[in-house]
Amino acid sequence: MCGIVGYIGRREAAPLLLNGLKRLEYRGYDSAGIAVLNGDMQVFKRKGSVGNLEEMLNVSGTVMLGATAGIAHTRWATHGDPSDRNAHPHMNVTGDIALIHNGIVENYSTLKQDLISQGYVFNSDTDSEVLVHLIDRIWKSDPSLELEAAVRQALRHVEGAYGICVVSSREPDKIVVARKGSPLVIGIGNNEFFIASDAAPIVEHTNKVVYLSDGEMAVITRDNYTVKTIENVEQEKRVTELDFSLEKIEKGGYEHFMLKEIFEQPEVMRDVMRGRVRIDEGRVQLGGIEDYLDRLKQAKRVVICACGTSWHAGLIGEYLIEEFARIPVEVDYASEFRYRNPIVSSDDVVIVISQSGETADTLAALRLAKEKGAMVMGICNVVGSTIARETLCGMYTHAGPEVGVASTKAFTAQVIVLFMLAMALSKGRTISHDEIRLNLRELAEVPDKVSRILEQNDAIKVIANEFKDAKNALYLGRGFNFPVALEGALKLKEISYIHAEGYPAAEMKHGPIALIDEDMPVFFIATRDNTYTKILSNIEEVRSRKGRVIAIASEGDREVSRLAEHVIYIPQASGPVMPLLTVVPFQLLAYHIATLRGCNVDRPRNLAKSVTVE
Ligand code: GLU
Repeated sequence: MCGIVGYIGRREAAPLLLNGLKRLEYRGYDSAGIAVLNGDMQVFKRKGSVGNLEEMLNVSGTVMLGATAGIAHTRWATHGDPSDRNAHPHMNVTGDIALIHNGIVENYSTLKQDLISQGYVFNSDTDSEVLVHLIDRIWKSDPSLELEAAVRQALRHVEGAYGICVVSSREPDKIVVARKGSPLVIGIGNNEFFIASDAAPIVEHTNKVVYLSDGEMAVITRDNYTVKTIENVEQEKRVTELDFSLEKIEKGGYEHFMLKEIFEQPEVMRDVMRGRVRIDEGRVQLGGIEDYLDRLKQAKRVVICACGTSWHAGLIGEYLIEEFARIPVEVDYASEFRYRNPIVSSDDVVIVISQSGETADTLAALRLAKEKGAMVMGICNVVGSTIARETLCGMYTHAGPEVGVASTKAFTAQVIVLFMLAMALSKGRTISHDEIRLNLRELAEVPDKVSRILEQNDAIKVIANEFKDAKNALYLGRGFNFPVALEGALKLKEISYIHAEGYPAAEMKHGPIALIDEDMPVFFIATRDNTYTKILSNIEEVRSRKGRVIAIASEGDREVSRLAEHVIYIPQASGPVMPLLTVVPFQLLAYHIATLRGCNVDRPRNLAKSVTVE
């Protein structure tokens, strides 16, 4: 999820590595660390900025001088608070292996228990640390192995996603790297090599790169590199020429962070579910709430408090929890909840949702709910944030850093977390084992379906171009898609400054219908579910008042294309997972309309990423 840099060559490694970390700063991170080899292994790590780490190295004097190989990391915590001890690199007990890791080791807790039972002592709360002890165990049990082989064998035990770099003072002239689900690039210089999680730290040194594919490992020395699969089959790799500017690389080749984050969603969705969704077992494994699940299931009522996009995710949460777990849910704006003397008691569970985990109003709602004796659970993206610390239990969204101010991937990650929560609350109570399996299968299919929607980006841009000069817009949906209508309208408002309203489609006739004329675009969600025929009537109502209808419909639907001026088709799915699909065209529409109007989508006027004031 965050940043990796490595260097092996003939120059001083430490300054090159620190400089590389700075090139990755745009991603956002919570701590940084470095390991270099100069006879011994030197490891330094610090919570906070690369600047903090740099300061530490200055204080430590010249320990790193003379080192011409090393690895460095910026961490975006997924397991364990941001802290000095949880920062990477992690080391084995004897201090001769250091490892950095991007991603999530899904089965870390089983591996960790196993290692602890064999006497291994852990120095961090991360999932990543198991990797270094695992390598150590394999290497110690057969010292004739090379580091590369020990790493390869260790990875056979690992489930999850990783980009790793490993160095050892026992084989000081190499770096071993591997990737599965988390990117790694090797930069080829003159008798020197660079390694990084994206090309940003490499481009100033060389434009010749090799992209590792999933399931590949590489051993890099000062003079050479070899790439093999994890099964030890040598690979021929193509050397690619970088022709990107640094800025473009930072955005993964996309024009804006927002677009990059929209396109990251299939991958992020898989990360959110990683290790948690167990289809075959018909259950979800939610570490952060496991010990409190019984109490959660006994709640008389659930109150969800949030702001903005998180509030929309909360509304979907309401529909999901009521539908499956049959527990009454209320969704409140955190800013209202905190000032209206709400009725909350110890029978209630209050769920607070915030991307940053620092939203001031949500934090105040959390504190008030606690004061009133409710059990408070958190859903946030930033590990170790205030909300994460102050709630009794909770779940992280694992969406990775979100840079664009208008939330996209964090929203879909929140919805997936709420879906998994609804399954956990239903299990053994309100729905059968088979139904849970069916729902989880539906959920697991979402990332691929989102990829198919993203393929329509160009067509969506054409539609956006037609409506870029609109003054107003209306978004209508029903059932699970009603909150998506609100979110679609909010996205458009936030970044294009066009006035937009979201409504439950049937409410239109109670007011907004008065606004409809030939200049009013009306965005309908008209997918095939139990409200489909009703939505068709709502579309007719708009058409007869000359409103311009743009509809999101299920693949294969002919009815809607007859009625709407433009149709965006999305794969069929069941109602409860539908918001994860229907929101994507709205994100793209808002993005394109805003960029076509010349707006700064990543930093829209008057808005902040993390709203820490009331
Ligand atoms: N899961 C690891 C941790 O929490 C790595 C996170 C990252 O990719 O930065 O330390």
